[in-house]
Amino acid sequence: MPKLSQTGGSSDAESLWERCLGIIRDNVSAQVFKTWFEQIRPLKWDGTLLTVEVPSQFFYEWIEEHYSSLLQKTIQKVMGAKARLQYQVVVDEGDSTLEQRTIRLPGARGAGQTKIAFPESGAPSPAKPAAPSAHYPTYFNPRYTFENFIRGENNQLATSAAMAVADNPGKTRYNPLVIYGPTGLGKTHLVQAIGNRVLQRDRNARVLYTNSEKFTMEYINAIQTNRVADFTNFYRSVDVLIVDDIQFLGGKEKTQDMFFHTFNALHQAGRQLILTSDKQPKDLADVDERLISRFTWGLTADIGMPDFETRMAILQQKSMEEGTDMPGDVLEYIARHVTSSVRELEGCLISLLAKVSLDGRELTLELAKEVVRGVTNSPSARSLTIDDIKNEVAAYYGQDVALLSAKTRKHEVVLARQMSMYLSKQLTKMSLKSIGMHFGGRDHTTVLHSCQQILNYIDTDKKVRADVEHLRKALLH
Ligand code: ADP
Ligand code: MG
Repeated sequence: MPKLSQTGGSSDAESLWERCLGIIRDNVSAQVFKTWFEQIRPLKWDGTLLTVEVPSQFFYEWIEEHYSSLLQKTIQKVMGAKARLQYQVVVDEGDSTLEQRTIRLPGARGAGQTKIAFPESGAPSPAKPAAPSAHYPTYFNPRYTFENFIRGENNQLATSAAMAVADNPGKTRYNPLVIYGPTGLGKTHLVQAIGNRVLQRDRNARVLYTNSEKFTMEYINAIQTNRVADFTNFYRSVDVLIVDDIQFLGGKEKTQDMFFHTFNALHQAGRQLILTSDKQPKDLADVDERLISRFTWGLTADIGMPDFETRMAILQQKSMEEGTDMPGDVLEYIARHVTSSVRELEGCLISLLAKVSLDGRELTLELAKEVVRGVTNSPSARSLTIDDIKNEVAAYYGQDVALLSAKTRKHEVVLARQMSMYLSKQLTKMSLKSIGMHFGGRDHTTVLHSCQQILNYIDTDKKVRADVEHLRKALLH
């Protein structure tokens, strides 16, 4: 074993990585070596941890999926049994004064280690290396299960079909399973419950949960970085593909085309497809006929607003989950008056509990009325402007709103700016270009990068995910 510097630095990292490459070169084809390994840049070696830089999140996922065992073995051979690998993903902010931002990601897992399908609680955070799925970086919220999903007439068919599919993915007639209905009625809950159950039955199942926006952004990114073939292979290798909110495919012709071929390949191979939409497939605007016809090959099940009794049951279930015993008249009042979505029902309960536990208010019917008034009078998302979003986000992070359009690269400001761009893309109909204009005339690729960055954080960082949830709620109420 050669003597290694403990103080670390990039020259150590470089020479060690050079030796790793020597071994790797002998173990993979020239093509693979060129495509994947030549692009990895060694940054730092601290005696146990080798930090390398990779060009994208997608690149990282691919490397981990295909070469983690080879990498692990190589690194241990060159640097000793304790050596570990850590990745940094470069996020180009998209303009010339670029200061590269990075996200740290866990490195290769040991060859003999068991796979971790999804974290036991909450989502993975970059600080906890073993968290993301070893093979499919997909994050199922353990909160969404069939057990805590209340069945009612409104979701009977969708729930039965979801359970059947979860027990026998790819083997029922429900392929694809399309669940549609207005927002806030449990579509995401149901499809996440499928994912959770499939993984419960088989920890090694390749289940991927994504939404059509994330699919689109990854595809755009793959085009920009010449990795369309990798993107295609990646999506075609899953057993169960869940795509939430396919209505956002509308008008994106190239993405639809890619999705069409992915769909066909998976369907032909007997893999399970699960899709959700806010409207019936046939009513999807600007979606190619041939895709729509495929969406109706399996089962299309709707979810509607639950009736009063089901709303009561949901409220009871939720208050139990929150560990409180709500007076019957309070629950009934909420169930009678909040009729627009289950999300609002839940929102009411949460703000009621917040007023009680944080503001020290007494849990009375009066207080319930006050909360319900607040929720049901809220302005709708349609009227949101980018300025509303900027103001809300700046206030939330305690930043001056003007900084969001300025050139500052302080971490807090960058995060607030990226968050504002992401929420603008999500909650308004503005194009990437015009969003960029609202942020000091930034380029559309900067906006795209920001959105991707926040999506990455949502997957890997609890704090940012909570920020997103909080801000969405605040903006939509
Ligand atoms: P959608 O995806 O249709 O917009 P979600 O799945 O996000 O809706 O549901 C919104 C919230 O309502 C979630 O917190 C979910 O757990 C809850 N919810 C919806 N329907 C039910 C139900 N039948 N039982 C329990 N919780 C539900
Ligand atoms: Mg949803």
